[in-house]
Amino acid sequence: MDTAGKGKRTTSKKDAEKLQCDAKNSMESGGAAGGGNGGHPNQNVNPGQEGSHQRLSKKQLYTLLSLWMEVFPNTETSDDPKKSDEIKINTVGLVVVENSKIIGLHRSSKNVHAGQVAILKHALRLQGCELYFSRKPCSTCLKMIINAGVKSVFYWPVDPEVSLCGQNTVKAEDDANAVEKLTSNSHTRVQILLLPVSDELQNFISNTSMRSIFRRKVGEQIEGEHNLRENFERLFLIADEQDHKSILGKIGLETIVSDHCFTILKSAMKKLIYLLADISSSVPELPNWGFYPTSSNNESSSTHQRDVARHCMVQAELLSYRTEDPKTKVGAVIWAKGKSHCAGTGNMYLVGCSYNGFVIGSEFADFPRTVTAKQRSAVNKYKYIIHAEQNALYFRSQDIKVEDEPMLFTTKCPCNDCVFLIQAAGIKEIYTDNSDAGSVQGEISFTEFPKLNDIKKYTWQRYDG
Ligand SMILES: [Zn+2]
Ligand SMILES: [Zn+2]
Repeated sequence: MDTAGKGKRTTSKKDAEKLQCDAKNSMESGGAAGGGNGGHPNQNVNPGQEGSHQRLSKKQLYTLLSLWMEVFPNTETSDDPKKSDEIKINTVGLVVVENSKIIGLHRSSKNVHAGQVAILKHALRLQGCELYFSRKPCSTCLKMIINAGVKSVFYWPVDPEVSLCGQNTVKAEDDANAVEKLTSNSHTRVQILLLPVSDELQNFISNTSMRSIFRRKVGEQIEGEHNLRENFERLFLIADEQDHKSILGKIGLETIVSDHCFTILKSAMKKLIYLLADISSSVPELPNWGFYPTSSNNESSSTHQRDVARHCMVQAELLSYRTEDPKTKVGAVIWAKGKSHCAGTGNMYLVGCSYNGFVIGSEFADFPRTVTAKQRSAVNKYKYIIHAEQNALYFRSQDIKVEDEPMLFTTKCPCNDCVFLIQAAGIKEIYTDNSDAGSVQGEISFTEFPKLNDIKKYTWQRYDG
């Protein structure tokens, strides 16, 4: 894997050369294939399919989700990051991965850092896990993470959690040095990833997100969108090259600062940010559109609730780009509302998430990945595909507690098979689009969804109220 740096000790010239070399070798190809939260962790997939042209690699997905979690709609009264002794603490997004399975999506709050949330939520389970941070964690978080036996920490190389752009840079640099010392003496690998994005993947994502089911329903030109990629650049990159290089130098990545390495890194980061911007645009942010209750009893949902629903649906969209069936890509995420406050995500905690994939033991070549009308009569892929909702229920990391009002977010209306499964599992709310509701499409039927009465349904619609 393309890594650079395990503290100052190992950020050698060799690492810098490796970074260049790996960049040349282009697409990330290592890691166990299949897995993620769909398919099966031990499933053999043709090596070329991992991170292939129409599919995000696992590491790309985890990285994008960590960045996206950084902007989880804030439940706190004040949006200001905590400032103590003039140290500025940046908000951080975090993805916890256990054996290729996402078991936690977190965001820091005003008082609790994302790394600390992971410790509180997962405790002993963190042993051997991989953590994907949207920024390099501070020493307070890192020492707990190291003690928990975390295998690897990956981070997005921008301004770290303890901001180096704050007022008191001396204190911030002290913390950065402590992080380096902790790293160089521990078994936890702390590193960055270089994740090149192929033009094919970029085009595929750009085109499919423009034609998402949610956008098609809105059906009009959405204004101000040309700024979306720029907005995301502002959020997740450092505009000024010298500032960026200076920060990299202070967080143990001085070998990357050389012009050639930096250019490769910056370009890869930019392309990933564009992917995130494009995918987030599949669920457009519009004042009169959102997930509203379908029931006729004039129930409404708060703006915050709608923002959270949109955020979770974008998580599902991100997951859908790991599908093994790009023609019908579906992502699903299950969240629930706990009794305790989970820091940056309010009282919400992740139960499970996944995407549609082939049944265990099936090779890609065995089944058609895209089905034309002619092929449909010959081989029906639906018999071999496990739906995103089914995988999300199976690959869950928490029990489903009915009293915690579990919520399912899925990018496609659940089929009849899934509706019964969701009902039996104890899901209390479904967020989806109902364009397919009531229809029969070949062997797959969506006739049960409209009849569902004991689950609250929130569908993508225009609302003038
Ligand atoms: Zn921290
Ligand atoms: Zn289904």
